[in-house]
Amino acid sequence: IKIDNSSEPKFKLVIVGDSTVGKTSLLTKIIDKDFNMQTTPTVGVDFKNVVVEVYNKKVHLQIWDTAGQERFRSIAAQYYRRANGCLLLFDITRRETFTALPRWIEDITTNSNELVKITVVGNKKDLSDSRKVTENEADMFCLRQKNNINYTEISVKETDQEAITHIFEEMAKEI
Ligand code: GDP
Ligand code: MG
Repeated sequence: IKIDNSSEPKFKLVIVGDSTVGKTSLLTKIIDKDFNMQTTPTVGVDFKNVVVEVYNKKVHLQIWDTAGQERFRSIAAQYYRRANGCLLLFDITRRETFTALPRWIEDITTNSNELVKITVVGNKKDLSDSRKVTENEADMFCLRQKNNINYTEISVKETDQEAITHIFEEMAKEI
C-alpha cells in the first residue's frame, strides 16, 4: 500500500463499527509503519488516498474514517454514499460491538449502493484471553448474511502490517 497523490478516479472504501473497536488505528497502521497506542479521537471525517496493486493493476482507494460520530450512532447517509466497499469492525472482547453488526449492515446497505462489498473484521485478537465472541460464531454470522460477507480476525496492535495490508488487497480485488 502506498499513499496515492494522483488524481486518478478512486473507489470509495468506508470503515465503520462501534466506538473504540480500532477503526482509526487500522487506517493509521496501513499508512504509518507503527501502531500507536495513543490514538486521539478523530475530529472531522478523515480520509486517506492509497494505491494497492492487485493482479498487476493499480487500484486507487479513498478510505474513509469516521469523526467519532458512531458514539451517537449518527453517521450521516453521505458517509456511505457510493461506497464500493466497507470494512465493518468489532472488538472480540466486547460482545455488544458484535451484536451491533446487524444494525451496521442495515445502515451500510440502505445508504450505499447495493453491490457494496462488506468485510467484517474482528479486532483485538491479542486480547483473546478476554474473548467474548468465538471465531466460529462470527464466521457463522457472516455466512448467514445474504450479501456474501467475508470474516477475518486481526490485532491491529500485533498483526504484522503485511497481513493487514492483505485485507485491503482482498477488498481491492472484490471491488
Ligand atoms: P475507533 O474509535 O474505532 O477509531 O478506535 P481507535 O482506533 O481509536 O482505538 C481505540 C482504542 O483501542 C485505542 O486505545 C487503541 O490503541 C486500541 N486498540 C486498537 N486496536 C487494538 C488491538 O488490536 N489490540 C489492542 N489491545 N488495542 C487496540
Ligand atoms: Mg476513530
